[in-house]
Amino acid sequence: MNFNQTELSGYLSVFWQFSWPEWMVFSLIMNAVLYMFSIGLYIFIEKTCRKSQLQEKNHPVTKSDFRLSLMTVLCNSFVMLAGAFLWKSGWIVLGQTQSLAGITAEVAALLLLMDLLMYFFHYAAHLPFLYKTLHGKHHEHVSTNFLSLFVLHPFETIGFGMMMLALLIVYDFSVVSISIYLLLNLIWGTIGHLNREFFPSSFDRFFVGTTRFHNQHHVDESKNFGFYTSIWDRVFGTYK
Ligand SMILES: [Zn+2]
Ligand SMILES: [Zn+2]
Repeated sequence: MNFNQTELSGYLSVFWQFSWPEWMVFSLIMNAVLYMFSIGLYIFIEKTCRKSQLQEKNHPVTKSDFRLSLMTVLCNSFVMLAGAFLWKSGWIVLGQTQSLAGITAEVAALLLLMDLLMYFFHYAAHLPFLYKTLHGKHHEHVSTNFLSLFVLHPFETIGFGMMMLALLIVYDFSVVSISIYLLLNLIWGTIGHLNREFFPSSFDRFFVGTTRFHNQHHVDESKNFGFYTSIWDRVFGTYK
């Protein structure tokens, strides 16, 4: 499979010509759509999945969590704007990888590297002084709900975004790989906060960061800091 280069540069050139107000509107709409997609997917799986619940009750949905989740959408829009700025100013160059093998390799690299960076970032977020101000709110959800993924301190959301932008500066990933990675990240985050196991239990053996894997982190906060995979927790001895 090859992505048509002229078509690709065609639609990229539309973005290249966006004014900053257009970028602001675009990133807000885009992130609002992704937010609604995540909530829709969560509710759909909860309603259709027949597997038993991991924890007895879902965490209640509160107004303050709802407000914080909207803040997260705003922060993600800001990160997207920062990405556009870095692209326009030449710091981020979009690679030309078009082959299926190349794109698969780039997506796998993004997942593994971001998983490693997030492992350290997440581990640091559990240090007492950072936990209190930054990460504690997310862990008020001992059980989870469709907002848990978005119940994050603004610094956490921006921090995640900055790590990703740093990787994009270091290596010229293609826009297709970046888009696939971001979509996978959203789906993973949604599934990871379900109150049911989504993956077959054999997946744990293949180092997949399953729902049970992250749910376990909400129950025992000293284990499972990784997210997409359990590789780094196994390497650093925090796997449960
Ligand atoms: Zn945590
Ligand atoms: Zn979580």
